[in-house]
Amino acid sequence: MHPLTLGFLELLAPTHCPGCDTPLPWRQEGFCTVCAPLLERRKSGPGAYEFGGPMADAVRRFKYAGRLDLARPLARLMVPALRRWEGSDLVISFIPLHKTRLRQRGYDQAQLLARELSKHLELPLQPTLERARFRSPQAVLSEKARATNIRGAFKSLPDTPKRIVLIDDVWTTGSTLTEARRVLKESGAELVVLRTLATVPE
Ligand SMILES: [Zn+2]
Repeated sequence: MHPLTLGFLELLAPTHCPGCDTPLPWRQEGFCTVCAPLLERRKSGPGAYEFGGPMADAVRRFKYAGRLDLARPLARLMVPALRRWEGSDLVISFIPLHKTRLRQRGYDQAQLLARELSKHLELPLQPTLERARFRSPQAVLSEKARATNIRGAFKSLPDTPKRIVLIDDVWTTGSTLTEARRVLKESGAELVVLRTLATVPE
């Protein structure tokens, strides 16, 4: 479908609560009045919210159910934690999917979040990494296996920016994001801020 047509249809279609999928009143966006009080905002660390309850449902819907429309309300929840860099010299980037997985899913959820954040914060969006080879999905591995599995998973793209906010959807053990930061620093980045929508509680 032509992107303009899609934009027009989005205007007409009701928005839905990312947590329970209830249609929201006209022009409202975000979690409904039932789900919103159940969200747990985090005061520190890379994730804006605890991964659980309606947030876990929202992430599953966004990642695995083709719900690209949730990128906007979910990215908006990450804005407060990133406000201090609004209009600064940082570049927004993201953890890319492997191209095999991108083909399966059809979209890269971290890229969609990063794109929305780039608009909100008036920071340029730039891909900085690619997946070097196909790995077992991190979600099925133990913590120790994840750390080994991820080593060498990324290659940096040319022209690594000096200062980067690196976006992903969920912080689990952090092995993916910290490996990505290591690779970017090796390629000349001086500051790599890691930010996710949610953090899985330990
Ligand atoms: Zn809801």
